[in-house]
Amino acid sequence: MSAFEWEKNIRKVVPYTPGEQPEERDIIKLNTNENPYGPSETLYKAMSELDSDSLRKYPNPAAHDLVKSLADYHGVSIDRVFVGVGSDDVLGMSFMTFFNSDREILFPDITYSFYPVWADMMRIPFKEIPLTEDFRINPDDFCRENGGIVIPNPNAPTAILMSREDIIRIIEASKDSVVIIDEAYIDFAPEGASVMDLTDKYDNLLVVRTFSKSRSLAGLRIGYAVGNPKLIKYLNDVKYSYNSYTMNEPSIILGKAVISDDEYFRETISRIVSIRERFTDELKELGFTVLPSSANFVFAAHPDISATDIFEAAKKEGIYFRHFNAPRINDYLRITIGKDEDMDRVITFLKDTYNL
Ligand code: PMP
Repeated sequence: MSAFEWEKNIRKVVPYTPGEQPEERDIIKLNTNENPYGPSETLYKAMSELDSDSLRKYPNPAAHDLVKSLADYHGVSIDRVFVGVGSDDVLGMSFMTFFNSDREILFPDITYSFYPVWADMMRIPFKEIPLTEDFRINPDDFCRENGGIVIPNPNAPTAILMSREDIIRIIEASKDSVVIIDEAYIDFAPEGASVMDLTDKYDNLLVVRTFSKSRSLAGLRIGYAVGNPKLIKYLNDVKYSYNSYTMNEPSIILGKAVISDDEYFRETISRIVSIRERFTDELKELGFTVLPSSANFVFAAHPDISATDIFEAAKKEGIYFRHFNAPRINDYLRITIGKDEDMDRVITFLKDTYNL
């Protein structure tokens, strides 16, 4: 029996669990795939020039300046870009807009754990398609009747990249539903891995990106989608029916400033990729299995030491990893790539604690 009469009439959900955000400052935080490098000087300059009086007014509801700079950056027209409060907002709006049939939407069984949460909350039927033994996505398994498809590329938390050919295969087999490719980590993948250019060719393809990882701006909350103007129009219709002013004025101005600093962006990415490669080799030398990563994190397991044990022991040392207590992956740890010195501390911790 419910304690309150009204409880039987409300929407009850099992929420998504974000990674911890501990308050201590001197920890090594490798649990939420943030960028270890601060945003560029260009951002600090733009911050110091922010006009606080402008906050008196509502922002431009279309976040026009940010949309325009993203459109210019990607060489597309402004009617092909949608922005939101982090890619979570963009993805949530996309679920609401595009997944509206009685047919099941498809996503991998091991993937971004927000997808089943949105589907449950919005009462969208879904089917989780098992990854292969080696944690890959088999495109054939997605070539079936569906009410929509969402796949991160690279996948999370496996970090494994799917080829453009495989994605094309899926899109071509799903002409009557929308296919969303969540490219949250694509900037850490080899050049040419993105399918954003294919939004020109396939009107049912939506590509979602974020400023939270490669652009060092998780705290500002900016995400965006690129797709056919018709998809973007439908997204905006839903957005304006729910919350017109999603983007606040500082994020419009600062987001635009950050886009203009491509040199710093590329330099930090290349640093992170080279640290990832070195760290992967070192983990392997200690006996870890490390899945091939195209992201700013690695997914690793040790044959003799439980991931829960490492997770807890590391936390006591002020080192935070992410562990998912889920079938097939509970032996694995997801470790964000930090600065060189952070990864050195991780290796030393593993060697010292487990005599590796
Ligand atoms: N997609 C994937 C695959 C992610 O891992 C994340 C980060 N939690 C997001 C989307 C959302 O990131 P944000 O809302 O910070 O853009």
